[in-house]
Amino acid sequence: EDDQALIERGDLDPDDDQDAGPLPVVAVVGRPNVGKSTLVNRILGRREAVVEDVPGVTRDRVAYDAEWTGRRFTLVDTGGWEVDATGIHLRVAEQAEVAVELADVVMFVVDAVVGATDTDEAVVRLLRRSGKPVVLVANKVDDQRFEADATALWNLGLGEPYPVSALHGRGSGDVLDAVLAVLPDVSAVGGAYRRGGPRRVALVGRPNVGKSSLLNQLAGSERVVVDDLAGTTRDPVDELVELGGKTWRFVDTAGIRRRVHQTRGADFYASLRTQTALEKAEVAVVLVDAATTIAEQDVRVIQQVVDAGRALVVAYNKWDLTDEERRYFLEREIERDLVQIPWAPRVNLSARTGRHTDRLVPALERALASWDTRIPTAKLNAFLGEVVAAHPHPVRGGKQPRILFATQASTRPPRFVVFASGFVEAGYRRFLERRLREQFGFEGTPIEISVRVKE
Ligand code: GDP
Ligand code: GDP
Repeated sequence: EDDQALIERGDLDPDDDQDAGPLPVVAVVGRPNVGKSTLVNRILGRREAVVEDVPGVTRDRVAYDAEWTGRRFTLVDTGGWEVDATGIHLRVAEQAEVAVELADVVMFVVDAVVGATDTDEAVVRLLRRSGKPVVLVANKVDDQRFEADATALWNLGLGEPYPVSALHGRGSGDVLDAVLAVLPDVSAVGGAYRRGGPRRVALVGRPNVGKSSLLNQLAGSERVVVDDLAGTTRDPVDELVELGGKTWRFVDTAGIRRRVHQTRGADFYASLRTQTALEKAEVAVVLVDAATTIAEQDVRVIQQVVDAGRALVVAYNKWDLTDEERRYFLEREIERDLVQIPWAPRVNLSARTGRHTDRLVPALERALASWDTRIPTAKLNAFLGEVVAAHPHPVRGGKQPRILFATQASTRPPRFVVFASGFVEAGYRRFLERRLREQFGFEGTPIEISVRVKE
């Protein structure tokens, strides 16, 4: 395909996309077993059933890129929520509360055949209070005979119930049309995106690493402006904090401050919050507890940041609790577990004592500068020409793919497209990434390299 021509004409520039602001968020909410996961799979067009039969299994990913009739949005699946039989009522309400806070539009799924239960009614009250647009999905209407069951759900007072069979696809187009009709173009969650406004930072990390303490430390020492979101009754979601002479927007801080859901299912919520905070942020500060062994969950959060294409700073918190021995082991753990991000700036700090918290801002600024970097095409190709001449792609099956041309297709993060005459091995791609980083820096940002094969 003629991507190259498009890029040269300047028509293939995902930066435009970035400037359009974060994608709107749709959350799927409802009791267990009403068919939320089935519906999510239906919307994503996945054939394989990802529906979990094993209770207590929490999924890593909860937010997905989705599209309907050309409009893109983020779809949040709350179906992975781990449920125990006692207190189920409360837990569903909690789940709904979190999802509502995160979403621009809520799809509330009810099992039409079972009808509305007390739990459903409790969620309805919560949804009404939120003032968020709600689309009522009357699921399991597999055929005409169940239409009347769907009609009965008018009683919930949420407007028209859309009869759907998530399992067979019946009615799913109509319900998505209804969602799009109330979906904003740009997410309003966490405050409208402003071009040239304060840079958006997410504080992320597993529970108890000190996110809330760090936020207090940073905000407490400086002027705090609570962002008043017009027309909402919810807690402020973002906070504006003055640091190093500049205003920064810390996104999605309501959950950090409130520290609810630190009980069962905390992992699931942590993952959900991380994902949604990342959607809204430009740069993430991943907090790691320096005093305890690096956990798989720390690595996962970092991977989430990289996958989301956000700039990254790693803060090793609770430095005041480390002694020489612990610091020795920490370095070994970093070498072993965090080898994939040697490029991320690192700050050793203490949210409690305030030690080195002033080093965060310079690290954030470096990471964001890299994230914004654009390498001119001529410069990029001059460099690539030298690299490839010195280290050509290895010969495979008597053929040697040649690297023809490269261009930076976008910034935020930097994405490169390399045109080659044949298949380029993953190892060689990694080699190119290493050399690009050696030459151009990119401290604090993931970079992507995709290869197009030209015949
Ligand atoms: P969740 O707990 O809300 O995520 O529900 P699941 O998506 O896991 O679905 C629970 C059960 O209901 C599964 O056995 C699904 O196959 C079934 N189910 C989901 N949607 C439909 C539907 O539209 N019709 C019928 N008959 N069954 C469905
Ligand atoms: P969050 O769950 O990530 O928001 O973590 P919190 O900010 O609530 O912190 C969890 C616990 O770690 C609390 O008891 C904090 O007082 C403690 N803590 C946080 N930062 C530090 C630190 O730098 N040093 C020490 N000693 N304790 C800390």
